[in-house]
Amino acid sequence: MRCRKCSAKAIIRLPRHNTAFCPACFSEYVTDQIERAIKSDRMFGRDEGVAVAVSGGKDSLVLWEILSRLGYRTLGLHIDLGIGEYSERSRKKVEAFAAGRGLPFVVHSLREEHGAGLSEIAEGLRRPPCSACGVVKRYNMNAIAFQHGMPVVATGHNLDDEAARLLGNVLHWQEDYLDKQSPVLPNSHPKLVRKVKPLYRLAEREIAAWAVLQKIDYIVDECPNSQGSKMLLYKDALNRLEAASPGTKHQFYFQFLDRQKTRAQAAPAEPDLRECASCGQPSTAEVCGYCKLVGTLKVLQ
Ligand code: SF4
Ligand code: ZN
Repeated sequence: MRCRKCSAKAIIRLPRHNTAFCPACFSEYVTDQIERAIKSDRMFGRDEGVAVAVSGGKDSLVLWEILSRLGYRTLGLHIDLGIGEYSERSRKKVEAFAAGRGLPFVVHSLREEHGAGLSEIAEGLRRPPCSACGVVKRYNMNAIAFQHGMPVVATGHNLDDEAARLLGNVLHWQEDYLDKQSPVLPNSHPKLVRKVKPLYRLAEREIAAWAVLQKIDYIVDECPNSQGSKMLLYKDALNRLEAASPGTKHQFYFQFLDRQKTRAQAAPAEPDLRECASCGQPSTAEVCGYCKLVGTLKVLQ
C-alpha cells in the first residue's frame, strides 16, 4: 500500500476518502482537517485564547497538542470527577502531558469542592451519573473558562461522537437537542463562552492513529460509567454500517449540518437567559441547574 500523496509506504488506509497515507502525509491530513474546521466554521481567531477541555483521553490530548503546535494560546481545563482510580489516572495523564510541554492548565476537583465524587453525588441525588456529569461539566467548563478570560472552550468531540449523538437524537426525535448539535455554539450571554468542536471532521480511529504515531500518552480505559451506555451502542451500529459502506458516518453528520443551516434560519429565538440568583452564572431559571444540584447535595449531606 502506497501513500496517495507522495508514494512512500502508507501506514493507514482511509476508506471513506478512498485514500492512504504515509506517517508524514497522514499527520498533515489530520492537522489540515482541524485547521479547516477552525477557519471554515469561524471557531476562533489567532488573537483569542482557547480553553481546551481535557479528560486525559486521546481526543482531547490530540486536540490540545495540535492547537498548541499551531501556535494558539491554550489553557488546559480538567474536571477531576473523583471516579476512583479512573479519575486519578486521567488527572495524572493530563498533568504529565502539560508538564512535558510547559502548557498551562487548571484542575477543578469535585471531591475537593463537594467532598464527594461524581458517582456518590449521582447516587445521593438519585440521578444517572452521566446526567449529573453533564450538568457538572457544562457549568464548570463555562465558569472556569470565563474566570480565566478565555472566550472559547474547545472539546475533543470527533466525527464518531457527533454521528452517534445525532443518531440518538434522531431515534428519539429530540429536536431541541438537534439545534444544539453544531460544531460551534455561539455565546448567547456575556457570561457564556463559545463552545467549539475542532475535531468533528476526523474519525475516532484517525485520531487514535495520530496519537499513537506522535507517542501521546493518554488514558486508554473508558469511564466505568460508560459501560452499557446507549452512546456505545449507537457507535457500534454506525461502525458496522461504516464497515459495509465507507463514508456513512461522514455523510450522515455532514448532510445533517447542511440541512441544519436552513433549520437555524427558521429556528425560534433562544430563550432569554438571566443570571442565577445563587451564583450569577447564566440560567434559564431563577436558580441554575448546577446550584440546584449542589443545593440538593448539601441537604442530603
Ligand atoms: Fe461523565 Fe463518565 Fe458518564 Fe462520560 S461516561 S458522561 S465521563 S460519568
Ligand atoms: Zn447557579
